[in-house]
Amino acid sequence: MGADTQKYGQVFNIQKFSVHDGPGIRTIVFLKGCPLRCKWCSNPESQQCHSELAYNVNKCIGAAECGRCIKACPQGAFKAGTAVNPVLDRQLCKQCFKCVKVCPAAAVSIFGNLMSINDVLQVVEADQAFYSRSGGGLTISGGEPLLQAEFTIRLLEAAKRRRINTAIETSGFTDWSVLEAAAKHLDTIIYDLKCLDSKLYKQWIEVPNEVIVSNFKKLCAAFPKLPILVRTPIIPGFNDSKEVVLGVANLLKGFTNVKYELLPYHRLGQPKYEYLGAEYLLGETKLDEDNFNQLQAVVKEALSKLAPQTKDEF
Ligand code: SF4
Ligand code: SF4
Repeated sequence: MGADTQKYGQVFNIQKFSVHDGPGIRTIVFLKGCPLRCKWCSNPESQQCHSELAYNVNKCIGAAECGRCIKACPQGAFKAGTAVNPVLDRQLCKQCFKCVKVCPAAAVSIFGNLMSINDVLQVVEADQAFYSRSGGGLTISGGEPLLQAEFTIRLLEAAKRRRINTAIETSGFTDWSVLEAAAKHLDTIIYDLKCLDSKLYKQWIEVPNEVIVSNFKKLCAAFPKLPILVRTPIIPGFNDSKEVVLGVANLLKGFTNVKYELLPYHRLGQPKYEYLGAEYLLGETKLDEDNFNQLQAVVKEALSKLAPQTKDEF
């Protein structure tokens, strides 16, 4: 691919000074669009490819006090109701974002903006000093960053040309040719393997996992020196069992460039479902911390019996 840094992508967040998603201090660029529908998704604003209207009623001044969104909306999607705050009818909304421009309290906002590769790199490069000291750099996350394949691959390529350390966080649900093209410009890849059971994938995530597992094996074989961090988020009722984590750990057998970690379930993203008018499907689900600690111990023991290079931490 060429060196077109004018290419645009849909970005919904850029998070600086992250120490969790790749080595050192990193800037995480979150892209919109994901083919998966994980019921526990902590970034629901990442799922759609286009910009979306968010409405946080907790910030709203009130229809009587303000009501500017009601006057500004050409579709009549905001209305004064019986409650203090205006009611938003999302069926009528055409995502013109006129209400965002007039809202004095930032109660309505936009998830997702078009940014060029140059725009993104300017933000990323501002922290170059921190990367050189810590071994950090750029991580592209999402959503699924390989859904905006051309943008992601060109961004990685441009970052490498500027000597920025690169990583992506992927579900692996993409064509092998896309994953392969991205991997050529990567210093680290973080790969989510949630379980090996395709039926469970379909039930909880709405996609099968055969391509994910097959891509993972191809990646390990084609890029034997690329550090790969496999992650399994532990979700109560879905994959919080020894069988699941041992299944994933066993798949890593023999791949010396692979490390493995479990991530605890959390519900930090729940308020964003309300801002989008969407339902959080996991209700009051809570992580059993004792079980999580046991699963971590099971993984540690299993990995100690596999190749000595396969570690349970980054
Ligand atoms: S985005 Fe446009 S159509 Fe939607 S509620 Fe706001 S003003 Fe109305
Ligand atoms: S413009 Fe903003 S603060 Fe004013 S009523 Fe609408 S949502 Fe509330």
